Amino acid sequence: MATQRVGGGGPSGLLNPFGPTWPKSKPGEVVEVGKQVQQVLFGGIKPPIVDPAHYPMLAAQIALLKKYRSKLSTMAGDDEDEYPMVLADGTIAMIDAEGRIYMGVRFLAEHGDEPATLVGVLAHEIGHRPKRWSQYRIERELSREEMQAICREEEAKADTFAGMALAEMELSPEPMIELLSVLEERPHPEYFPAKVRGEIIRDAHQARAFRAEFRRKMFPHLDRMTSPKNHLGDF
Ligand SMILES: [Zn+2]
Repeated sequence: MATQRVGGGGPSGLLNPFGPTWPKSKPGEVVEVGKQVQQVLFGGIKPPIVDPAHYPMLAAQIALLKKYRSKLSTMAGDDEDEYPMVLADGTIAMIDAEGRIYMGVRFLAEHGDEPATLVGVLAHEIGHRPKRWSQYRIERELSREEMQAICREEEAKADTFAGMALAEMELSPEPMIELLSVLEERPHPEYFPAKVRGEIIRDAHQARAFRAEFRRKMFPHLDRMTSPKNHLGDF
């Protein structure tokens, strides 16, 4: 169906890069705008969680993601505990309204030797910061067009964070940009086209890389202690 989206790729796995799901609307019900957005973006069908013990070959990838989750959540202004991470089937990656991140086992296996791709996708999910949407308390029914516009901006915001995060981690944005163009099978009203998303990520990366480089040169000691890359985690 044209309007029914399966979060993060759904059972078919690779249809939808990290995407929203339209809920079935209940007639006459008006919910807060923030809740509507949360429902559409993060309230979709959750992919089945799988046991990491069955995927010993993904241990290195899981360890890498956990290491970066700490740095990325700090960079986003959140605590890493707000982003529990699980392995799942039938998704690339998705985040739910509570902040739980589902990382797809097939995606991890296929891109396991591309840290920049894994970190970029994780950063995109954390960049959504889904919990903060509950702060919007206006009660009004959004039109489909309004909702699609919000979704596009929300995705662009997550992509911007991914670009900035990859710059801070000194990783290239190109593998993630390449992934988006490979995944794009048809245009989605809730997303900008892969080409535009690639430009958003590249621009954000470039601007942030410049800033991070300046900081490293000017304030090397401070940078070593406080930059997102060097963040050692909370004790
Ligand atoms: Zn997204």
